Amino acid sequence: MLLRHTPEGIAEREALTIQPAKTCQPIGAMYAALGIHRCLPHSHGSQGCCAYHRSALTRHYKEPVMAGTSSFTEGSAVFGGQGNLLDAIQNIFSIYDPDVIAVHTTCLSETIGDDVNQIMVKAREEKKIPEGRFVIKASTPSYVGSHVIGFSNMVKGIVEGFAAPGGARGGFVNVIPGFVEPSDMAEIKRIARLMGVTALVFPDTSGVLDTPQTGSYEMYPAGGAPVSALLGMGGGASTIALGPIASGPGARLLDTRCKVPCEILPLPIGIRATDALVNALRARGGNVPDELAFERGQAVDIITDMQQYFFGKKAALIGDPDHLVSLTGFLTDLGMLVRHVITGTPGKKFVTRIKEAAQTDDVNVREMSDYFYLHQLVKSEPVDLLFGNSYAKYMSRDEDIPLVRMGFPIYDRIGHQYFPIVGYRGAMRLLERMLDAILSRQDRDAPEERFELVM
Ligand code: SF4
Repeated sequence: MLLRHTPEGIAEREALTIQPAKTCQPIGAMYAALGIHRCLPHSHGSQGCCAYHRSALTRHYKEPVMAGTSSFTEGSAVFGGQGNLLDAIQNIFSIYDPDVIAVHTTCLSETIGDDVNQIMVKAREEKKIPEGRFVIKASTPSYVGSHVIGFSNMVKGIVEGFAAPGGARGGFVNVIPGFVEPSDMAEIKRIARLMGVTALVFPDTSGVLDTPQTGSYEMYPAGGAPVSALLGMGGGASTIALGPIASGPGARLLDTRCKVPCEILPLPIGIRATDALVNALRARGGNVPDELAFERGQAVDIITDMQQYFFGKKAALIGDPDHLVSLTGFLTDLGMLVRHVITGTPGKKFVTRIKEAAQTDDVNVREMSDYFYLHQLVKSEPVDLLFGNSYAKYMSRDEDIPLVRMGFPIYDRIGHQYFPIVGYRGAMRLLERMLDAILSRQDRDAPEERFELVM
């Protein structure tokens, strides 16, 4: 009943956003930074921002997320945060001993106009950065963009901080996996490994935010792309960027800086998009082993067995653009009708990409939009299945539509960090969850005489 006042009629709005379909840029930057081994993210702003970013990530991944903050006060807000950041860099290296500090800005430090580049140079000159340690940075003003853009900006920061031109071309491929779960990053690595392709995946949060319970706390878990490997990224034979919004800009920057050619692919969600990744790895010398062909066959078998339940079902999607484009393609391949697609992240090509994936212009799609708008669309044209993060549960309950949780953030379920939705295995998991949602609804609504054991 939370959304009971949402009217069905749609009045166009320009200045007003109601329940945005995105979160804050630094959250994505912090997540990307955690994908470097022994890296401590640092929020250049007030303590409140950092507490929010950390809590959002901790609630989603159910793991402690550590980060430093420049702890702006009224004085720093007026005179700038250079002194705070210089002190922070010195303190963090001496107390917490990371290999890397990844600084991202916030609304406040961006509004003041702090020059983080210049502060980093000063920190190096004043020997606050020990030999062999690194400070990288990303500009992440949260009054523009979204958490996905923040992730993308920190990926560019990683390239800026580590990529060096020259040297021989190595026998490995850089893979930028996009703003996906640790489980998805692990699955992308597994597919490359199965195909015999040596891949440097960065950022890589597997082994960082999906760690086992050992009874002892590790400030820097075993996972993450090591600095020694990142320093060699400029020697990669090529780069595969998964997701044009989250990964494309970093891959292009690496191409510009070090002449590493890049190929930008959709996130490997669904059979078709996973095939594109597998083909890209084949073009780089990989072979498709029986194990992978077997998994693909299993995914296709599930689709064949259960296609009767998917065909013709209407879906509404809300979330991050790279996910939504691949998911739209997957659902369309299943014979489902994707009716409404909303993202809060800006991106001029989003509408075109969704229409191409849906293979029709007859789909309501909008970038930089909000939950309120999607709710109005769903009220005017109801759907059978809703895809979105935990915030979509209110609409799901009010409109009595089954929800398949995916994307960021998911605060009210566990499993997303351990089980992938990318690759053929990921497609199987997604199919299982979709089918469960559809059939559980069918069971719930079935009259006594139609309540079936075998479905
Ligand atoms: S939106 Fe801006 S002020 Fe708010 S938490 Fe994010 S960075 Fe801080």
